[in-house]
Amino acid sequence: MSQQSEYSEGDLRNTGMSLKHDREWDYELERIVDEIDDRDAAKVGLQFPEGLKRRGPKVADDLRERVRDDVTIMLSGQPCYGACDLDTYLMKRTDVFVHFGHSPMKDTDKVIYVPLFSNVDVTPIMEEALETLADPDDDPEVGLVTTAQHMNLYEEMREFLEERGYDVDSRRGDERLTHEGQVLGCNYASADVPANQILYVGGGKFHPLGLAMEHPDKHVVIADPVNNVVTVADTEKFMKQRYGAIHRAMDAEKWGVIFCTKIGQGRWEQAQDILDENDDAYLITMDEVTPDRLRNFDMDAFVNTGCPRITTDDGPQFHKPMLTPGEYEIAVGHEPLDSLEFDTFHGTW
Ligand code: SF4
Repeated sequence: MSQQSEYSEGDLRNTGMSLKHDREWDYELERIVDEIDDRDAAKVGLQFPEGLKRRGPKVADDLRERVRDDVTIMLSGQPCYGACDLDTYLMKRTDVFVHFGHSPMKDTDKVIYVPLFSNVDVTPIMEEALETLADPDDDPEVGLVTTAQHMNLYEEMREFLEERGYDVDSRRGDERLTHEGQVLGCNYASADVPANQILYVGGGKFHPLGLAMEHPDKHVVIADPVNNVVTVADTEKFMKQRYGAIHRAMDAEKWGVIFCTKIGQGRWEQAQDILDENDDAYLITMDEVTPDRLRNFDMDAFVNTGCPRITTDDGPQFHKPMLTPGEYEIAVGHEPLDSLEFDTFHGTW
């Protein structure tokens, strides 16, 4: 499964920086211990995203040293790819439940979120990105977005640009996002700003690609401090892949409509709308959406109402075309081909 976590550690491995991060990440152990004491907790659940799971035992050891002997620490073995993806089984059965590596998608006392900010210096790559942004004398306005991992440096990024003559446009997208300027793989509402150019500071290309598709009128510059590279988001290849999937699904008769049971990935109304209008559509409920799990369903095509990244990142691995809800509308002829948009996800649960 190649779905990437919002916290993608794979990128860090390329830089040889993971050891440094091992030492310097702040797991906020004292805050967790205080909660355990305050709640007189007997059971503690820890959930890490995929890229950080191997840190779990060490964090459990560090906690065991600090808490009463009768406290049981449990590690979630469920796959986890985002703040949308809480291990609700473990959460319900523990007195303190800690989710590492993502910022909160919803304010709740039930979950302690420990975001684990990256400590990569963003200024060298931002300096390089200036060459790809418009000169501030020609166009001073720039939107600034980043991922949860680098959110702690957002003000530093803003100051960097302002000191060089830019006016930074920023907003907090919607309730699915915790911070001003934050984007998720499924939500780019923070880039809904008047500026014609957006600077994305963060690892990987998936987020800025989604951003560029969502805002085709904007020039999206990627300053990737993890891989140390500046590029401009180019959606052409990605769009071709999506049009290919739509074309392959156009003759489909039997449709599998996937409803994801993960707490922050369910879009019931979208799934229901498809079922209401298509007698050859079957609702399939599941948590992990993988090619293996769908292989035994005799369908001609699938529509995924869960995480959009599964459709777009892993789409080619499924045995039948896998579409987003918007792409489904095109494939069945309800919408024109040029209505193709990135599948974004709003709200929480
Ligand atoms: S639904 Fe959104 S937040 Fe959750 S894993 Fe997918 S892209 Fe990330």
